[in-house]
Amino acid sequence: MDYVVQTRNLTKTFQGHNAVSNVTMNIKQGEIYGFLGPNGSGKSTIMKMLTNMIKPSHGEITIFGKPLKHDSFEYLKRIGSMIEYPIFYEKMTARENLELHCAYMGYHSKQAIRDALDRVGLENVENKLPKELSLGMRQRLCVARAIITKPEFLILDEPINGLDPAGIKAMRKLFKMLNQEYGMTLLLSSHIIGEIEQIADTIGVIKGGKLMEEASMDSIKESNTEYIELVTSNQRKAAMVLHDKLGINNFKVVDDQTIRIYATEVPQSSISKTLILEDINIESIDKKRTTLEEYFIKKVELDQVVS
Ligand code: ADP
Ligand code: MG
Repeated sequence: MDYVVQTRNLTKTFQGHNAVSNVTMNIKQGEIYGFLGPNGSGKSTIMKMLTNMIKPSHGEITIFGKPLKHDSFEYLKRIGSMIEYPIFYEKMTARENLELHCAYMGYHSKQAIRDALDRVGLENVENKLPKELSLGMRQRLCVARAIITKPEFLILDEPINGLDPAGIKAMRKLFKMLNQEYGMTLLLSSHIIGEIEQIADTIGVIKGGKLMEEASMDSIKESNTEYIELVTSNQRKAAMVLHDKLGINNFKVVDDQTIRIYATEVPQSSISKTLILEDINIESIDKKRTTLEEYFIKKVELDQVVS
């Protein structure tokens, strides 16, 4: 497996307080890694360490297979980033800001600026000053600047902040395109579970500077608590059949029509068949998962108790 980033026990201390604490994370090449955590959990601080804007207090970072050193800078040409607030040269137009960035990155393509602006849906702002743009437009201009050089690795800190629903949808589409068509590896942060859930291949959950969980979206969905919900008009008899005929004990009667069956080895098809044979009408029978939101809230609380 190739990794774009691996950290080992990464720690950052500000005035005696650990903003980031022993974080060991792994970002695979070609994936979208979603960094999920509430405000103040250390997401931006980690991103700043990855781009050498600030130095770790302890721990190591390996990026593109090489250890990051205090004076590493060449690797930054392979990265596009937007960390915290979009900052521009306010006296220069949008186009001039992008031109300067390209020159600085050693990237020379006249067409690239147009393309990047089109990509983020900012067709008519080339000659505007950053201060003439709305917050959402500044955010998009900043994403344009991050992707303009077609970097291998894109780091975007809360990229959907300040965007309207249509803008959010367009950004999501753009991220998927960059990932799938250009093969870019993306690290995106957000404090909104739904946003990360929709786009990430791997999720890193961070709280209080600690990485609570790092797992693939598929494995999370797979292991997510599942139950079978049975709706029937003959709930009493159904409960008896589950117990007596199928040996299922782990179920809960939710209301006079609904039964939830947890963690059973008995396949859903056998449950249906047995109930039907016992002349119990089934209005519906479905597999249900707890939402990812419930899962993470539980997960974070659980780990807090453990640690
Ligand atoms: P997030 O991006 O997840 O919202 P941050 O990485 O910005 O979180 O911040 C993590 C913690 O580190 C917060 O408690 C924040 O106040 C603190 N912090 C971040 N930068 C500094 C700094 N330069 N000086 C002191 N404390 C800081
Ligand atoms: Mg932040």
